[in-house]
Amino acid sequence: MPYLPTIGLEIHVELSTGSKLFCGCPVSFGGEPNSRCCPVCTSVPGTLPVLNRAAVQYAIKAGLALNCEIGLFSKFDRKNYFYPDLPKAYQISQFDLPFCLDGYVDIELNGEQKRIRIERIHLEEDAGKLVHDGLDKYSLADYNRCGVPLIEIVTKPDIASAQEAKAFVEKVRLCLLYAGVSDCKMEEGSMRVDVNTSVRPVGTDELGTRTEMKNLNSIRSIVRCIESETARQASVLDSGGRVVQETRRWDDNKGESRAMRSKENAHDYRYFPEPDIIPAEFTQEQIEALRASLPKMPHERYLEYTGKMGLPGSDANQILESVALADIFEDAAAISANPRTSASLIIVEILRRLNDMGLSPEQIPFDGAALGKLVKMMDERQITANNAKKVLTLMFETKDSPDKIAKDNGFAVISDVAGIKSVVSDILKQNEKAVGEYLAGNAKTFGFLMGQCVGALSGRADPQVVRAVLQELLQKGQD
Ligand SMILES: [Zn+2]
Repeated sequence: MPYLPTIGLEIHVELSTGSKLFCGCPVSFGGEPNSRCCPVCTSVPGTLPVLNRAAVQYAIKAGLALNCEIGLFSKFDRKNYFYPDLPKAYQISQFDLPFCLDGYVDIELNGEQKRIRIERIHLEEDAGKLVHDGLDKYSLADYNRCGVPLIEIVTKPDIASAQEAKAFVEKVRLCLLYAGVSDCKMEEGSMRVDVNTSVRPVGTDELGTRTEMKNLNSIRSIVRCIESETARQASVLDSGGRVVQETRRWDDNKGESRAMRSKENAHDYRYFPEPDIIPAEFTQEQIEALRASLPKMPHERYLEYTGKMGLPGSDANQILESVALADIFEDAAAISANPRTSASLIIVEILRRLNDMGLSPEQIPFDGAALGKLVKMMDERQITANNAKKVLTLMFETKDSPDKIAKDNGFAVISDVAGIKSVVSDILKQNEKAVGEYLAGNAKTFGFLMGQCVGALSGRADPQVVRAVLQELLQKGQD
């Protein structure tokens, strides 16, 4: 029997604040175990949490970036559970009054738009990490991550396929990157996804029993996990069985999941209001100030790039992958008034060099103004396209301005036609045989002569001008 999947996601995102949610310990990845904790984040009795203002602002910015309503009155709650990576045996989270409610993200798949609703975003503290010895003999606890501010983005069950889930996670990631609230590095665990999946027979409305797959840390494993779990549930139902509500662990190496524990319900956690932190209250003005502080979101930029700037959608998306690239592109396009060439230099030349050098776009050593200047020099024919590429390479190495590089290296174009004419006429004299063949009707030798001329001018003349001069002089020879 054919089945339709229904998928909801819970996305955990670590906020890139300087310090943890309730103490002054620094937030960063890696490092010596237990080198970034204190009595507060390791919950020594008698310590009290102090709420980090920046973390609250980041959580609200995330909500605004994902089109949420922001609650003007929010509070924290205790979620009680025991696990060795959380030494106080409860997590400070938010239950009934989270900071952000009722958001949405529009995704596009095969040219069709779909809205995925976001139920809520709440702020909570991250737990520590257990390091297992691999022999199942002992585990070591590292509390560096304990107390790192974490938002949990909970969707409505609006996702109907692995590909929709992928598009949604990618879009959320991009919006949060642009909002500047997280580095969203899935490989370092600063963005982790729980997937809730159920299937129902085609033609029915009632949702099936769902299972939860926790802590997926790559887009690829999200896609594979959804495909595998959808197929597993369908085969359970087809063989007359029933799906059990449970948490399952995804094994990315084997490409399969196994049951971990039966799924808890909210009442198992015995939530109650956190007595050590007063509720957070905001005015609408404070929320609007945070909204105004957000940069333009990627979908707005996409419309501008593909609209008045005239970029193809795929080029726009490639640039929008990185905030740094998008900012460089916009500055370069503004200065050169030539978005298309700016984009093509970024996509073809800059991305290739970054790839070769193993650098990220944030490490580009020049700004959009310098790139815009280079594009302008090309447009004004001060430099050939070929030499522009050489200048670009040197911009990575020297950090000099493009005009200084062009001047220092003799890349400036020979723009006077008389100069070009004298070089071309010398070449024709040196290649009488080829000229004779051309005049006798062998058009192929034109390419050879053109190559000789361009070589003699060492790429400093506009090829179109050289071509015109060469044609003109050969024409004269014919007359
Ligand atoms: Zn601490």
